[in-house]
Amino acid sequence: METTKVNERIFLSSPHMSDEGYEMEYVKEAFDTNWIAPLGENVNGFEKELAEKVGSKAAAALSSGTAAIHLALRAAGVGEGDIVFCPTLTFSATANPIIYQNAVPVFIDSDYKTWNMCPEALEEAFQKYPKVKAVIVVHLYGLSADMDRIVELCKKHNVVLIEDAAESLGTYYKGRHTGTFGNYGIFSFNGNKIITTSGGGMLVSDNEERIAKARFWATQSRDQARHYQHSELGFNYRMSNVVAGIGRGQLKVLDQRVEKKRYIFEFYKRELDGLEGVQFMPSNEWDAPNYWLSSMTLTGKVRPIDIFKALEAENIESRPVWKPMHMQPFFEKYDYVGTAVSEKLFENGVCLPSDTKMTDADLAKIVEIIKKLWCE
Ligand SMILES: *Cc1c(COP(=O)(O)O)cnc(C)c1O
Repeated sequence: METTKVNERIFLSSPHMSDEGYEMEYVKEAFDTNWIAPLGENVNGFEKELAEKVGSKAAAALSSGTAAIHLALRAAGVGEGDIVFCPTLTFSATANPIIYQNAVPVFIDSDYKTWNMCPEALEEAFQKYPKVKAVIVVHLYGLSADMDRIVELCKKHNVVLIEDAAESLGTYYKGRHTGTFGNYGIFSFNGNKIITTSGGGMLVSDNEERIAKARFWATQSRDQARHYQHSELGFNYRMSNVVAGIGRGQLKVLDQRVEKKRYIFEFYKRELDGLEGVQFMPSNEWDAPNYWLSSMTLTGKVRPIDIFKALEAENIESRPVWKPMHMQPFFEKYDYVGTAVSEKLFENGVCLPSDTKMTDADLAKIVEIIKKLWCE
C-alpha cells in the first residue's frame, strides 16, 4: 500500500552539528572530568580558539550575543542618557542593551550598496548629535558594512565603535575578520546562527584589560576576597563549560558551513536572478561574506508575501528582512536619521531557506516553487 510521504520541514537556518562528532567529544570530556559548570577547559579553549580564528587578542565567552553587546556598552562606558548610534535595520537584540543601560538609541539608515549602516546617514547623525558616546555597526546576513568609512568617521569623532557580528562569523572585509575593526566585537551562537552552541555569545577585543573586566562583570562582579564581596554591579552572563564544548566542536566546521552557505547562495542566484523584479543582496569587491541567509528584494509583480505563502504551503520556512527598529512600537519614539532605504528593504526583502543541511533536491524544489510564481 502506498503511503503519502510527509515532507520534513525545511528551515531557514537550523543547528547543524559536525558529521565527525567533534562537539560530543568536548562535551563528553566535560562530563568525564565533572567540569559541568560553571567554567573549565572548554570555556578557556573556546575563547582562545575563537580569538585566534577571528584575529583578536582576547575573548570572553558569554551566555548570549545580547549579553556580549550589553557588556560591550558597559566596557565602553555607556550610561544613563548617553546617545548610541545603532542601525535601524537589525534584530532588536542590537538595540535592547542600549535601553538596559538607560542610554538613548538614535537609529541610522541602511544603504543599498551594503544593506548595512549608511556612512552618509552616519555622518549626518554626527552633525546632529556631536556628543554621541558609541556607535554600533551590524554586518547583516553576513554582509560586511562599509568599514573603512565607518571606522574613519568614528575615529574622526573620537567615538567607541562596537561591531555586532552576530550574523557574520566567517565574514571577512578586505581580508580581515568582521568584529575586529571596532573597539569591541560580538558574536552569537544562537540556534539559527552559522554555528551554534544552542545559545551563547562572545565578546572580543584587543583590549585584554577590558575583556578581563567583562569576565568579572559576567560572574557577578565578585571581588578578590574569601567572603562574597561586591564593589560593582554584577551579571550572570558567563557561558557554561558544557555549552563551550559544543562551540569548540562547531568552530572546527565553520569553514565548511561558510562553503555550503556560499553554494546555496550561488544556486539561488543562478536560478532566480533575471526573473522580473528580482535583485539579490549586494556583493562588494571588499567583501568575503559567510552568506548566513541568502536574501533578495522583489520590486516586480511577484511580492514577498507570495513567496512566503507558496513556500509555507510546502512546509518550507522563509521570512521577511528585519523590520527596522524605528518602525517598531517599542522604539518608534527614538530619532531616526536616513532616507527610508531600510523601509524599502523591509517592504521588498525575502530571506530564502539557507539551512546547510539542504540537499540539491531540496534547493531544486524551492527554486521550482518560486519560479512558478512568475508563470501565473
Ligand atoms: C542573533 C543576533 C543577536 C543576538 O544574539 P543572541 O545570542 O541571540 O543574544 C544580536 N544581533 C544580531 C544582528 C543577531 O542576529
